[in-house]
Amino acid sequence: MFRMATTPEISIETRSRYEPVIGLEVHVQLLTATKIFCSCSTKFGAAPNTNVCPVCLGLPGALPVLNRKAVEFATLAAMALNCRINETSIFARKNYFYPDLPKGYQISQYDKPLAEHGFIEITGGKRIGITRVHLEEDAGKSLHEGFPDSEETTAVDLNRSGVPLIEIVTEPDIASPDEAFEYLTRLKEIILYTGVSDCNMEEGSLRCDANVSVRPRGRKEFGTKTEVKNVNSFRFIREALDYEIERQIGIIASGGTISQETRLYNSHERKTYGMRSKEQAHDYRYFPEPDLLPLVVDEQWQKAIRQQLPELPEARRARMVSEYGITLYDAGVLTATRSLADQFEEAARAAKNPKRVANLVQGELMGRLKAKNLEIEQSPISMRGVAMSADLVESGAISGKQLKDLYDLAFERNQDFPAIYEKEKPQQITDESAIEKIIDEVIAANPRQLEQYRGGKTTVIGFFVGQVMKASKGQANPAKVNELLIKKLGVK
Ligand SMILES: [Zn+2]
Repeated sequence: MFRMATTPEISIETRSRYEPVIGLEVHVQLLTATKIFCSCSTKFGAAPNTNVCPVCLGLPGALPVLNRKAVEFATLAAMALNCRINETSIFARKNYFYPDLPKGYQISQYDKPLAEHGFIEITGGKRIGITRVHLEEDAGKSLHEGFPDSEETTAVDLNRSGVPLIEIVTEPDIASPDEAFEYLTRLKEIILYTGVSDCNMEEGSLRCDANVSVRPRGRKEFGTKTEVKNVNSFRFIREALDYEIERQIGIIASGGTISQETRLYNSHERKTYGMRSKEQAHDYRYFPEPDLLPLVVDEQWQKAIRQQLPELPEARRARMVSEYGITLYDAGVLTATRSLADQFEEAARAAKNPKRVANLVQGELMGRLKAKNLEIEQSPISMRGVAMSADLVESGAISGKQLKDLYDLAFERNQDFPAIYEKEKPQQITDESAIEKIIDEVIAANPRQLEQYRGGKTTVIGFFVGQVMKASKGQANPAKVNELLIKKLGVK
């Protein structure tokens, strides 16, 4: 894909002498109803500082109580990411000062995280290692805008303080911005399938930071890395990495050194900017959280959670290919969301020819939904309707053209396919003599194709079927047309 160059003057030759090393840290907000250590609501969009209590405000003496659902969700996600679950993990205090962190520390996990040693497979079977998945609480939010009285004002909203997160950290296995993009796409897909998060990036339910360094190709040691923070779309992360890699190579190739720092990406200028020099991990002075017992997810609990693990996208695609005889590409489109895949399979199982259902859903349904900005759940045509329409075309009761017209009507009137079909049952020409008449005309008008057919090129029949359907304005019964054509063409 073509992407605009964002940095000046590094020759392709210089670029090729270096390779990037990328690791990603993704925070995912868990879809629990209440916060991780108190019973405040996690609902997004409430008036500022209304979903708060002494625990998440960090008032002295308030004690955290761990949310069981948050542990189950985190464990489920870790299992879906092929991680090993640690039976015992430890909560730790990560100490730092920031106005949106009233306690002066964040409860996280440090040297004993919930889960480790996972991976996500990307194209070509390459595995991106997942170092760890751990549980932590979110901080509050500083608001710098929307105060008409003064440009200087900053306010703090603590509704988000204590909302449960998992942090998913990769090994430095990612070798290009495109791989980073693919990893994130797969990660989001897997998390969505587990149902533990809505992964809504605009609302901050999925946030990604990227660590990136470059080194001369072939060298083992890593270069100095920078961290690109708070990029709010996968596309921007790919752009930010592109820029950052070029920037680092430019500096190193001209004899400079990279300083370890946190950088922000400006998507308008397509550049990263240094924000602050990066604190070392030990600056946080982690220590075990004294108010919480070690977290134990024993074998029995793990087993119960594992039973909730749904069929994941990769496995589902493979099964759909073999079960319905559809292509891997089609399976990819049809598993884009769990709900679309569920809907498709419902129709595919009800219909005589699942392949036709796959084509109908992609070719006729999804485009119409997109044009009306509807989700699959809001489709006027139900999956029962899709299955019925597929069977009607399959049996030759309606033509492809008539199906299109009926779908248009269903969307226009916001009615399901069976109702539309009952009412509008298309006029079909099934009378053999009428069809024969059209066939004779078509054959007479196309002597060259007739010659080819009789010369052994039997695939030309498709051409004749098309011509007859066209001449009948899509109203001839396709099965009859086929049958009669073979008879007529066969006779010398
Ligand atoms: Zn609270």
